[in-house]
Amino acid sequence: NAAAELPPKLILNLEVLQNLGEDKAAPLMRYVAAIQSQRGDYNGRVLSIRQDDLRTLSVIFDLQPSVLVDQLIEWGVLDADARRAIDFEGD
Ligand code: C2E
Ligand code: C2E
Ligand code: C2E
Repeated sequence: NAAAELPPKLILNLEVLQNLGEDKAAPLMRYVAAIQSQRGDYNGRVLSIRQDDLRTLSVIFDLQPSVLVDQLIEWGVLDADARRAIDFEGD
């Protein structure tokens, strides 16, 4: 099954993100709002983002991508399966 070898999609849980109340999540909330605006994709409970956007976010947060993914998993914004997206890139 070729699909099994593809990296998992990075799907942000927007409900969890909105309810975090974490000051540290503010840059991610702004980034997500910008993508929603560019796509015209509002009212979604989740948002799929690009692998490239994870790299950009890791620069914004000044964290290694793998550390940022772990943080987002801890917050419940990403599924634990998302860690494989990092493994896939050999980070
Ligand atoms: P763009 O990158 O020139 O993409 C134009 C259109 O191609 C998008 O319109 C979308 O319909 C399609 N498209 C491009 N890449 C993908 C993809 O990986 N998956 C899917 N399903 N469709 C894709 P859309 O969605 O209206 O986005 C308009 C513009 O907003 C994009 O132009 C891009 O500049 C920006 N944008 C939207 N979503 C993202 C995102 O997740 N990350 C970043 N960095 N930019 C985004
Ligand atoms: P999927 O990518 O696993 O997404 C499952 C469901 O999560 C989607 O059901 C949608 O309700 C939600 N979802 C995921 N990402 C986003 C997002 O960025 N914005 C919003 N608003 N919702 C999101 P849906 O729409 O019925 O799509 C079912 C499946 O159809 C998707 O599974 C995907 O495999 C495919 N699909 C839908 N739209 C696109 C697309 O623009 N490009 C590609 N390549 N596949 C798509
Ligand atoms: P997806 O739509 O299932 O696309 C999976 C991967 O196929 C993307 O991973 C990207 O590598 C490639 N791909 C799909 N469409 C295009 C395209 O028009 N141009 C290019 N250059 N590559 C494309 P990526 O970039 O990591 O994106 C992951 C998911 O994020 C996409 O899954 C889609 O759900 C969402 N996404 C990313 N960019 C956009 C966008 O511009 N608009 C929308 N509506 N969704 C996007």
